[in-house]
Amino acid sequence: MFHQYNRDDIRDRARAAFIGMAIGDALGATVEFMTASEIASKYGTFRDIIGGGWLRLKPGQVTDDTEMALCIGRAIIKNQGWSLEGVADNFAAWLKSRPVDCGDTCRKGIRAYLLQGRLEAPPNEWDAGNGAAMRLLPAALFSLPDDLLLKKYVIEQAHITHNNPVSDAACICLGQLLHMALCGAEKSRLRQHVEGLVARFPTFNYTPYRGLATGYVVDTMQTVFHWFFRGKSFEECLIGTVNQGADADTTGAICGMLAGAYYGGEALPKRWIKKLDSAVLAEIEVMTEKLIAASPVGRM
Ligand code: MN
Ligand code: MN
Repeated sequence: MFHQYNRDDIRDRARAAFIGMAIGDALGATVEFMTASEIASKYGTFRDIIGGGWLRLKPGQVTDDTEMALCIGRAIIKNQGWSLEGVADNFAAWLKSRPVDCGDTCRKGIRAYLLQGRLEAPPNEWDAGNGAAMRLLPAALFSLPDDLLLKKYVIEQAHITHNNPVSDAACICLGQLLHMALCGAEKSRLRQHVEGLVARFPTFNYTPYRGLATGYVVDTMQTVFHWFFRGKSFEECLIGTVNQGADADTTGAICGMLAGAYYGGEALPKRWIKKLDSAVLAEIEVMTEKLIAASPVGRM
C-alpha cells in the first residue's frame, strides 16, 4: 500500500504549502481591510510583498496566521506527538509576547485557557471566524494521510478558540483538501470534494462568487475556492485572492497553503520567497521536514 506515496513529492508539496501559507499572509497583510476597488485604485493589481498595511509591517513580516500555525508545529515537535495542552501553552506564550495582531475569538479562547485551563471553548453560533482554519496546516501535515487523525487534530486545535459547526466543517474540508493535494490529487478531484461540502453546508456555495472576503469563515473559504479553482498557477491563485482585500492576509494564507500543496515548490515565485522573513522561512523548512517525518506517511 505504501508504494502509492511518493515521499519526495510529498515533502516538496508540504514545504511549498507551509511557505505558501507564510507568503499569502505576508502578501495579503498589506491590503488587509481594504476593499477590492481601493486596492485597484492604489496599486492597479497588487502583486508584491512590501509590508506596511494597517499593521505597519516590515516587508516579509508575517502575522498571527503564520505565528499560530508555528505554535502548533512547535508543540508537536517538542512533545514528539500530538499534545493539545502543548498547543494551548504555545498559544498562551504567544499571546503574552504581544503579537502584532490577534483576533478577538482567538484572544478570548486563549485567555480562558490561561485563566481556567479550558481547552475547549463552549459551542457558540457566532464564533464562525476563520481563526481556526488559518492555522491548521501543521495538524494536516502531522496526520498525513490518516483521515481520522486529521479530524481529531484539526478539530481539537480549533476548539481551543472556535467551537462552531460551520468553522468545523471548513476546517475538516480544508484539511482534507490539503491531504489530497499533498498526495498529488488533480484539481477536478479537489473541486468534487468541495462540492461535497457545499451539498452538506450550502452556505459555502461559491458559484457565482459574491466577492466577499471577510473574516467570516464562509466568506473566507468562498474566496479561496473561487480563486484557487480559477487560477492557473500558484501566483495567479494568490494574486486573485489578496486583491479581493478584506481579510486578505488570512484568505492569502489559506489559499497559499492549498495552492502550495497543489503546485509544489517549483511554482513558488522566487521574488516572494526572497522577501519572506528569513527566520520564519528557516523555521518552516525544518518544521515541515520534522512533521512529515513523524507523520504516518513518514513512518510507513
Ligand atoms: Mn493575520
Ligand atoms: Mn487576517
